[in-house]
Order: sequence, then C-alpha cells, then structure tokens
Amino acid sequence: MSLEHLDTPSATRVVVIGAGFVGSTFAYTLLLSGLTAEIVLVDANQARAEGEAMDLSHALPFSHASRVWAGDYADCAQADVVVISAGVNQKPGESRLDLVRRNADIFDQIIPRVTNSGFKGVLVVATNPVDVLTYLTIKKSGLPPQRVIGSGTILDTARFRFELSQYCGVDPRNVHAYIIGEHGDSSRPVWSGASIGGMPLLDYCQARGLELSSATQEQMFHRARDAARDIIARKGATYYAIAAGLLRLVEAILRDQNTVLCVSSMVHGYEGISDVCLSLPSIVNRSGLAQVLPLKLAPDEADGLRHSAQVLKTSIASLESPAN
Ligand code: NAD
Repeated sequence: MSLEHLDTPSATRVVVIGAGFVGSTFAYTLLLSGLTAEIVLVDANQARAEGEAMDLSHALPFSHASRVWAGDYADCAQADVVVISAGVNQKPGESRLDLVRRNADIFDQIIPRVTNSGFKGVLVVATNPVDVLTYLTIKKSGLPPQRVIGSGTILDTARFRFELSQYCGVDPRNVHAYIIGEHGDSSRPVWSGASIGGMPLLDYCQARGLELSSATQEQMFHRARDAARDIIARKGATYYAIAAGLLRLVEAILRDQNTVLCVSSMVHGYEGISDVCLSLPSIVNRSGLAQVLPLKLAPDEADGLRHSAQVLKTSIASLESPAN
C-alpha cells in the first residue's frame, strides 16, 4: 500500500526494508524521536509490514506528527535514508558469517529494487554479516561508496563503552573507546586510544585507584564482543541497542552532524588494507560517509585489523564458490 497521493517531496523520509525485530524496533525509536516526517516499512511479508505500520501509527497521538505506512520499493525514490534490516538472524550457536549465503541472496533481490526506484539518498545496511553485505551492496548498487554505510561496530562499540563505564564508575557517554574491524568474532578493541574525560584510560584508572590488568581488559572486551551470543541464548534476538545505534546514525545523516561513529565502509589503503568493508571511526554527515579517520594504531591493533580484513575477504570470496 503506497501513499503516493500524500507524497510531499520536501518531507524527510526514511524507508525501512525488513520490518522484523530490528526494523520495527528502529522504526519505533525513529517515530518517538520525531526526527523524520515519514516512515515507510517494506517487507517481503506484506502483512507484517502492515501490522507494524498500524501499531506504530497508533503511537502518533502520543508522540509526533509523522506518517507511517507499509509501502513498496517505489517509496525509496523520495527517501533521504533507506535502512536495510531484512534477512535471517543468527540462531543460537551460529556466527554472523554463517548467515552470508542466505542474506546475500536476499540482498540480490532488494538492492536492484532500491536503485531502480531512483533513490538518491544514503543507504544504511544493518543485516548481518553487515560488513560483507555492505561490500556487496556497494558493488551491486553502483552507488558511490560514501552513500553506503554499514552499521558495523557501532553496537560493539556501544557495548564496549558500557562495559568500561561499569568498571570505571562513569557515565558511558564520557567513555571514548572503539571496537574496529569486523562486526563479529575478529573485531579488535583500540585500547591505545581509549580515554575518559580527556585522560588516557590508564591515567584515568590510576587517578580513580582502579587496577586495569590485561585480564580485566580482555574480560571487558570479550563481554562486549560476545554480547549478541549471550543475549540470543536468552531471548532469541537483539534489537533495542541496534535500533538506538541506527537512530544515532540516521540522525547524524539527516541533521548533517559530522558525527564520529564507528561504522562500516569501503576501505582503501588503510594500514595496507584495501577493497573490503569494515568499521573504523568515521565522520558521518548528510553526504553519508564523509571520511574514515586515520587512527594511529598500536602495532598489535593494526595486525588485528589486517586479520579482520582477511577474515572478511575470505567470506566475500566464499560467495563466489558454488560449494558454499
Ligand atoms: P527478523 O527475522 O525478525 O526480521 C527479518 C525481516 O526481514 C522479516 O520480517 C522478513 O519477512 C524480512 N525479509 C526477509 N526476506 C526479505 C526480502 N527479500 N525482502 C524484504 N524483507 C525480507 O530478523 P531481525 O532480528 O530483525 O534481524 C534482521 C537482521 O539484522 C539479521 O541479519 C540480524 O543478524 C541483523 N542484526 C544486525 C545487528 C547489527 O548490529 N548490525 C544487530 C542485530 C541484528
């Protein structure tokens, strides 16, 4: 059901493709934020998209003057941002890379429909394995790479900041620390650049009388890295924190905020890494991914990033082999 007769070309529009746990929770977060005038839900399961749109619309009297509807790919033509969260999610015990073949096939259906609509905005990929699918989206869409952003380690980074904040007894918003590389098992923490209140993390811990042993560091990183597995084992899926992260990313785009976010983009010539999508702190604004920041990584961090790039390249190459 498209509401083309109500289209207002100047209205800010976000289209969400895949109205499952992640897509519908993001749409709800977006609706409560009042950031956008129009929210369109597209899903292979039309009834699901319609049901979510109806339920969300009933929150409008309590929130903001927006319009929400179950639409189709033609609605992408007027979209400022399209967020793709369609596809299967991990089952207990599966890694994100295990999903690659199934979700690449789904993207083969979705991407041409988005580009054929005449879409002129920024495309955000949230479906896993997000780095591989961001890469495929750039290759298959023909869109300029800066207009395709993967949510990448925005979530891992949030989880890491949360873990550090708990240990350090400080507001997580005051913790600056990143997880880079794959959104998955080969991700790496950047301890060398972690800081709180303008102090390097180690200095902060010393000043607060906190010991920061390497075992404690490892524990915090592993809790952040493995959080999805731990949540999926308990409730079957994760969606609140990624929805909040997607909102932050879409806000940075729509409001042209030049925000530093750890998101996945096409990397060329970074620590010897080229032609792969992975996450690094990057400036995000209305044009999309404006710039990847050239971090001065410690040698082991740079090695870890290169390993992560190799894992992702192997996964991309596996899609070309019929045996997979
Ligand atoms: P879900 O099963 O609840 O929802 C997926 C939706 O996609 C379903 O409504 C389904 O009908 C729809 N869909 C399937 N094929 C489609 C197609 N060809 N066209 C349009 N819609 C289609 O799954 P979920 O829990 O919402 O997870 C969605 C994806 O997001 C998964 O890949 C999951 O791993 C990923 N995810 C990513 C992050 C992240 O940090 N990037 C976090 C959590 C989940």
